[in-house]
Amino acid sequence: MTFCTLLGLYLEHLTITLLFGAFALLGWHYWRLYRLHYWLWHSKKISPPRTGGIWSHIYKGIYGTNVKNRNKRKALGEIIRRFRQGSEALPDAAIVVDESSEIIWCNRLARIELGLSWPKDLGQKVYDCINDEQFINFYHANRFDQPLEIVSPINASKVLEFRLVPYEDDYLMILIRDVTRLTQIEKMRKDFVANVSHELKTPLTVINGYLEMLPENGDMPAPMMKKAISEMRSQSVRMQSLIEELLVLSRIEASTERTFEKLVNVPQLLWQIQVEAEALNRDKKHKIFFDISPILYVYGIESELRSAFSNLIFNAINYTPNGGVIEIKWALENNQVKFSVKDNGYGIAPVHIERLTERFYRVDKARSRTTGGSGLGLSIVKHVLSHHNSVLNIQSRVGKGSTFSCRFSPELTYIVEKPADSQ
Ligand code: ADP
Repeated sequence: MTFCTLLGLYLEHLTITLLFGAFALLGWHYWRLYRLHYWLWHSKKISPPRTGGIWSHIYKGIYGTNVKNRNKRKALGEIIRRFRQGSEALPDAAIVVDESSEIIWCNRLARIELGLSWPKDLGQKVYDCINDEQFINFYHANRFDQPLEIVSPINASKVLEFRLVPYEDDYLMILIRDVTRLTQIEKMRKDFVANVSHELKTPLTVINGYLEMLPENGDMPAPMMKKAISEMRSQSVRMQSLIEELLVLSRIEASTERTFEKLVNVPQLLWQIQVEAEALNRDKKHKIFFDISPILYVYGIESELRSAFSNLIFNAINYTPNGGVIEIKWALENNQVKFSVKDNGYGIAPVHIERLTERFYRVDKARSRTTGGSGLGLSIVKHVLSHHNSVLNIQSRVGKGSTFSCRFSPELTYIVEKPADSQ
């Protein structure tokens, strides 16, 4: 403007020159304003257009604020991304609902466990998506202190636990956990305690009954005394073997021993069991054949394998009527080492076979009692074999006999050059 004033004075047309200058200045500022508007709304460039004067300060200021906002947005985006990742890594399913019960967020597990689909179910009422009467009642009752356990609405073999966690006045997080295994374990524990108590109660009742019958001074007719003592003895033997087997079972279950570090001389172990089997067979008079390859060893835990093999062999002796034939084999078959016990005894009906390895499961309780069986033997066998990456195979026909067998994978077996000595 100073230049226009001087030029106006020199040309002696001050007003016109000033007016012209003012228009030019206005035009220039308008042009800057237009470029600012264009940069803010239409340009994809982040850095401002080059300019001078006051406008360069304005551009710089706006650019600085933009950069700061961008960085803040980036940091916030990063926080949200981490939160999402964290919540996806949660071992539980989680759903967040707002004050009108509409789903505003859920993690992947919630989609899997409850069949929610995303983003279709965003904004849906949670009780429309989880269509279970018990859940709906629980949800409306606002029970924040107690969880709800129900069968999964989409998979009848699963049990889910729901928890309501309110936050920030209006929001509610629903946490869902798969507790199927926990409920199974709890049921097994209850059944187990009930069974053990029941099993121990019977012999104790018999012993107590006889003890009560004994007169104070001990005088009792000799035959009765004989019967009482023999019955008490057999019941206490039963109780002892039950307790011993329970201890073996719990030891195997709790074992932290490394299974595949030691090589077990199985032929030797079977020859030792052979001696015990012959002693047990004295009254039964079975013909027992041991066919044992002396070169086949297995990586495993000796005490466990002893328990498993002796249980199968003694069962064959016990569940075969006198004078039967029992064959025990330890041999290589199709590149795998196989242990089998075959008898021509009572046999087992197909309905029982599935359940034989359950604790305390017996086909014929009376017969099992006379053999002193605890009902835990095959359960021990199953655990031992699973420790050794093997399974129990049972083939049986009522009245014809049974074959119990298992195989060990080639990685677990070792063929020695010098055969084990049977002496
Ligand atoms: P127990 O201590 O009663 O023998 P087990 O777990 O060893 O318990 O066996 C479970 C049941 O399986 C036995 O009660 C018996 O009825 C049946 N069983 C096991 N082995 C044989 C076999 N070789 N022949 C027929 N039945 C058998």
